[in-house]
Amino acid sequence: DRSAPTWLVTGGAGFIGGNFVIEAVTRGVRVVNLDALTYAGNLDTLAGLAGNPAHVFVHGDIGDRPLVARLLAEHRPDAVLNFAAESHVDRSIDGPAAFVQTNVVGTLVLLEAVREYWASLDGAARAAFRFLHVSTDEVYGALGETGRFTESSPYAPNSPYAASKAASDHLVRAFHHTYGLPVLTTHCSNNYGPYHFPEKLIPLAITRALAGETLPVYGDGRQVRDWLYVADHCEAIRTVLAKGRVGETYNVGGDAELRNIEVVEAVCALLDARRPRADGQGYASQIRFVADRPGHDRRYAIDATRLREELGWRPAHSFEQGLADTVDWYLAHQDWVRRVLDGSYRLERMGMGA
Ligand code: NAD
Repeated sequence: DRSAPTWLVTGGAGFIGGNFVIEAVTRGVRVVNLDALTYAGNLDTLAGLAGNPAHVFVHGDIGDRPLVARLLAEHRPDAVLNFAAESHVDRSIDGPAAFVQTNVVGTLVLLEAVREYWASLDGAARAAFRFLHVSTDEVYGALGETGRFTESSPYAPNSPYAASKAASDHLVRAFHHTYGLPVLTTHCSNNYGPYHFPEKLIPLAITRALAGETLPVYGDGRQVRDWLYVADHCEAIRTVLAKGRVGETYNVGGDAELRNIEVVEAVCALLDARRPRADGQGYASQIRFVADRPGHDRRYAIDATRLREELGWRPAHSFEQGLADTVDWYLAHQDWVRRVLDGSYRLERMGMGA
């Protein structure tokens, strides 16, 4: 059905990409979802789309140029949205090479294939085509007590993850300035919400709290992050795709600056209300401060004025509402979590599942 838009989404079995794909298909978009199914890719997240002809899942790598070229030629997408990445800062400290391979080399290969496809399009299709690159506020480095990152803040990445995302942003920019590829880039702050892999702060806190385990908090817990509910990030991406100025970058943030310790305490308070511990103690008694992450950025804050004023985007969820929805989602989807923790979400993709 060519009346429906077709988008090639990469990394659509991950946290944000998965939420984005589900929402896009629900809104009538045909999605070709290319995902390498690393540890972070989870087909369980997409189970609700099984049998839906508007969703085509392809197990493959953005760095596989012949595969990407074939998908572009076959499905003729109106847009390509690049979510695929190695995304966990701690893993980038232990092993940066995979981050360079996917985030830098993979993005370059994807850009080359997309550029070739875009050049082959005729008039209207060529003019309407967009390549949207999903990036992070971490490329800007750390802030002091005050100030916020704007789109003109200098790049100053501090972790191998942030450095690899910065490099990919530069390549995307260069493909616009050098070849005219119609690109858009978004820089979002920390996301949270359903389908978030339980290695990240909020789902980790929920999962470990319920399991009666300690809740590790890095350093003094006073690192400040801006938090955005994932559905609001997805809406921002759709807004930038539809209305963004080609070649421009857009910061996306929730105006919800919180210290890590405050986030963990808020999770504990929600769980205390919803599923009190049998011994009557609060979940906060499980919090333990652990040695800080090397190079840990002290504070990030995002100024999303451009996105708000030029494109009219607003987050629909306050942090309180989004966090409550997230805790409720995890309580209602303990099976999704269990299958991540016991590894069965990975066995199935190898044809070894029950
Ligand atoms: P995620 O780790 O949950 O998902 C990444 C997905 O990409 C996984 O499904 C994985 O299998 C896939 N993938 C990895 N390497 C691939 C490759 N070579 N080819 C194809 N697929 C591959 O990450 P996320 O949190 O959903 O983040 C998505 C994007 O958003 C990333 O680019 C990330 O940098 C960016 N971002 C994330 C946040 C956040 O708070 N999570 C904030 C801002 C920006």
